[in-house]
Amino acid sequence: MKPLKDIFSIFFPDVCVNCQSILLRNEQFLCTICLNDLPVIVYNESTKNMLQNIFFGKVPVENVYSFLYFTKFGITQKLIHELKYKKEQNIGVFLGRRMCYEIERLKLFKEIDIVLPVPLHKKKLKLRGYNQVSKFGGVLSNYLQVPYIINVLKRVSKNESQTLKRRFERFSNADSKFHISDLEYLQNKHVLLIDDVITTGATLVSCCEELLKVKNIKISICTIAYTEIG
Ligand SMILES: [Zn+2]
Repeated sequence: MKPLKDIFSIFFPDVCVNCQSILLRNEQFLCTICLNDLPVIVYNESTKNMLQNIFFGKVPVENVYSFLYFTKFGITQKLIHELKYKKEQNIGVFLGRRMCYEIERLKLFKEIDIVLPVPLHKKKLKLRGYNQVSKFGGVLSNYLQVPYIINVLKRVSKNESQTLKRRFERFSNADSKFHISDLEYLQNKHVLLIDDVITTGATLVSCCEELLKVKNIKISICTIAYTEIG
């Protein structure tokens, strides 16, 4: 007897997220053709500067790495859409594993102590049910053999952050939407902040500003994708 999954797949076969062709048994999310077209960012001096420049003059960051180019109607946009809105969380695993090959090859992030995701606001988390980068971050932290920490950096609403600011004078940044619950835990650590897509970098900058309240912290950034579109 065929396993139930096989029978199910006769009627509802998995299709390529990008071109909708029916996937073969050894393919996942993308057909082989689309997989070969995955727009991996070639990491060289020029792309390294392109990514570093997003943060230049705003916050000091050690390394910035982004795996894929994100373009309108492109493969990356489709993958991230499925990951974010269609509960296809395993796309995070799929992309995380592929990215780790690159990181291994490039010998990046050898000094990282902790992987930290950009947090979602708790209302959004409740609505979506998961942070879209959590599976991706899990694969990455596993690969780097460092902890994946979700409860130290939190997103707070404008009102909450105002209250916190009144309570603690040192919270001077008027736009801060993030809050660290344990400054000491992060002390002397090199954290790898992760997110899905870098666009303007505003959210990541805001996170970094909060993280820089920690004594002797180093920050590197890693995202699934990078885009120039706003
Ligand atoms: Zn395809």
